[in-house]
Amino acid sequence: MADAIAVLNAGSSSFKFSLFVEGAQGIALVSRGQAEGLYTSPRFVAKDGAGATVDEKSWGEGVSLGHAGALDYLVAFLRQRFTEHRLVGVGHRVVHGGAEYAQPVRVDASVLAALEKYVPLAPLHQPHNLAPIRELLERQPQLPQIACFDTAFHRGQPPVAQAFALPKAITERGVIRYGFHGLSYEYVAGVMPEYDSRAAAGKVVVLHLGNGSSMCAIAGGRSVASTMGFTAADGLPMGTRCGNLDPGVVLYLMDELKMDARAIEKLIYQQSGLLGVSGISSDMRTLEASNEPGAKAAIDLYVYRIVRELGSLAAALGGLDAIVFTAGIGENSRSLRERVCRDVAWLGVELDAEANQRGAGRISTAACRVSAWVIPTNEELMIARHTYNLLGAQPQPELA
Ligand code: ADP
Repeated sequence: MADAIAVLNAGSSSFKFSLFVEGAQGIALVSRGQAEGLYTSPRFVAKDGAGATVDEKSWGEGVSLGHAGALDYLVAFLRQRFTEHRLVGVGHRVVHGGAEYAQPVRVDASVLAALEKYVPLAPLHQPHNLAPIRELLERQPQLPQIACFDTAFHRGQPPVAQAFALPKAITERGVIRYGFHGLSYEYVAGVMPEYDSRAAAGKVVVLHLGNGSSMCAIAGGRSVASTMGFTAADGLPMGTRCGNLDPGVVLYLMDELKMDARAIEKLIYQQSGLLGVSGISSDMRTLEASNEPGAKAAIDLYVYRIVRELGSLAAALGGLDAIVFTAGIGENSRSLRERVCRDVAWLGVELDAEANQRGAGRISTAACRVSAWVIPTNEELMIARHTYNLLGAQPQPELA
């Protein structure tokens, strides 16, 4: 019987899951899928490691299954389908570990209470990330629940990179730059030596460009600066988030437009970014296929901000050896990669147009000073690795 690890990434009305087993070749994916529409029209889909659908169920319109009902269904599915595997732990993606958690942690009631303190710092993600942990701790107290944080990879940044220029009393309340997408950056930094060992030991900027977008400066495999700050609304424009914003704008919205905190939250998290600027869509594929001026304006602004941040992160690193594109847009949009590489040619990047069309591995010319890469991210695998490592380092749990 092989030990299996489930990985959960839970949002407000959906969750994604993966199941990994540890074999002779390392950790292998055996199933992945998602449950969505949990409070309106629940639907569950599971695929095997090769991508073939192995289970599908819809509960119908107007049904509220909730996270708890969907988790019950998932656990029953895993038990029934994978009888030869023994579930030894669940790894969870948790957006915020605050200043305290620089490593993954096994969650018990006191850790859960500590993580709940970070709900105000990530109100749109943290409660949903924690809900299945609480649920599983209650239903299966002997099954280890491991929290892996999007902030953890950045906790080793120099203090100056984590600080806002605010009075000490505010900083001491935890108002600092946390940075996010850390599991993605940690994964990319971990595989970078296989692509470019010189750059991996040197100075790299990773561009995680998806619905949520950020960039991270990595020196010798460690995060030294990133574009996201106190919340995941900072830095680059994203699908629906505005990114970097003069705080004076928030005061203007309050004073002149009489917007309250909730209205501003909605504006900066859900109505801005590619969607807000284009007035068309938050989806890069739709914008790239559109001839509307709004679509062009949104992509132009996205590219402009990426290029400016690249200059800033190269300055934080004091040089640059490589850039890496990852996540939905970074891995798939040839035209976006082409535009970014062209605009940062002054840094020493020279795109290999043919390699960029192929879209994998090295996409810069062999001779150029700063190499450019496409490396698919794998946050779930990173969580599974952390979970195995943490469980391996602890006394073996009683198994479910
Ligand atoms: P999330 O942050 O939700 O994990 P993803 O990393 O899946 O997001 O990225 C989603 C984004 O990737 C969307 O804007 C989508 O349009 C974009 N994307 C996916 N495939 C392509 C493609 N072939 N060309 C351009 N953009 C793409």
